[in-house]
Amino acid sequence: MQITERLQALAGSPTTAVKQVADQLKRDGIKVYDFGVGEPDFGTPENIKDAAVGAMEQNKTKYTTARGIVELREAIAQRYNNKYGTAFGPEHVVVSGGAKQSLYNLMMTLVNPGDEVIIPSPYWVSYPALVQLAQGTSVFVETKAENDFKVTASEIEAAITPRTKVINLNSPNNPTGAVIEIEELKQITEMAVEKDIALIYDECYECFVFGKEHGNPIQWNQEKVVSVGSASKTYAMTGWRIGWMIGLKEVAAASDRFQSQAASNPNSIAQWAAVEALLGEQDAVDEMHAAYAKRRTMVLDLLNQVDGLTCPVPEGAFYVFPDVSNFFNEELCDSIAIAKYLLEEAHVAVVPGSGFGAEGYVRISYAASEQELTEGLTRMGEALKALK
Ligand code: PMP
Ligand code: GLU
Repeated sequence: MQITERLQALAGSPTTAVKQVADQLKRDGIKVYDFGVGEPDFGTPENIKDAAVGAMEQNKTKYTTARGIVELREAIAQRYNNKYGTAFGPEHVVVSGGAKQSLYNLMMTLVNPGDEVIIPSPYWVSYPALVQLAQGTSVFVETKAENDFKVTASEIEAAITPRTKVINLNSPNNPTGAVIEIEELKQITEMAVEKDIALIYDECYECFVFGKEHGNPIQWNQEKVVSVGSASKTYAMTGWRIGWMIGLKEVAAASDRFQSQAASNPNSIAQWAAVEALLGEQDAVDEMHAAYAKRRTMVLDLLNQVDGLTCPVPEGAFYVFPDVSNFFNEELCDSIAIAKYLLEEAHVAVVPGSGFGAEGYVRISYAASEQELTEGLTRMGEALKALK
């Protein structure tokens, strides 16, 4: 059989690849300090699991509407209305098997072949691949470590051409943890409206922002902005696969049409669990926030003790993105080689920066216990020192 040119040209996700290698090592009995794939180390809260059990017991185990059960879409719409003063209803929402699928739906909905999608870099690994699948062209806007990787409106403006169809923003950012300044976000929204460009805003880490205001452009405009969210991080539900888009009814309808043909509906049991996640007790989210905040300080302290390592201060998500290029030598001359070395020598899994469009860096997820982080990052520091 012949694999299509489309797929021959498509690289696999480097984050999921690191997970595969780390999991294999664990199965081989090796103790791995796994700071690779980004997912909460916390269990899914009990009330959410109970809701799933209840759904199974009540046989809510059949196909649902392709865009998701109305109860969940209402809960999602309500979340935005409460937070941002919007007036969304279930007709503005499409629930998917994770935000990744929502983003794929949206690229297929909004991008024609040859259209340009502006993506600030470092970027989450899947954006360019999803643009590629929609036969669009990614246009990267490089953000700077000295600005803590925060994108500005003028940087975005400089990348706009007559072919620009979408600006794809992610705040808090994976992999850098950067949170876009409210004033810049406002200006970017105004620019998108003025120039008739769609703005996709991925806020999967919306609940994990530290000492800083998080905004969503959908609070200022609901015609040009589509927001993407996820239960994965907020409720420690990565394996359940529930994400969503919210925005213009027509965009939701087209996205629903695509999903109905490509995937039917997201998992019915997970949808009922997500209703409880959104409407039930939110204490677990506060507890996770407090834990990540504490670990962030701890991780930055540990990394700053390693001579030669520089690490911008992230304001959100649960990642740090240190510059490891000072440790490059003739053999280990890129982030993939360094990540491989750290895994083999220190049994520490991190994701190479190249997958995020940022050679010279590695991403460390601090969604791990304090003990794991202390031991693992000490091992990492020692392995790096050995290269000097
Ligand atoms: N966007 C960002 C920025 C992410 O980091 C991820 C991965 N967690 C996703 C989208 C996709 O999340 P999920 O498909 O698990 O909802
Ligand atoms: N988003 C997570 C990460 O960046 C999970 C893996 C993925 O979906 O790519 O590690």
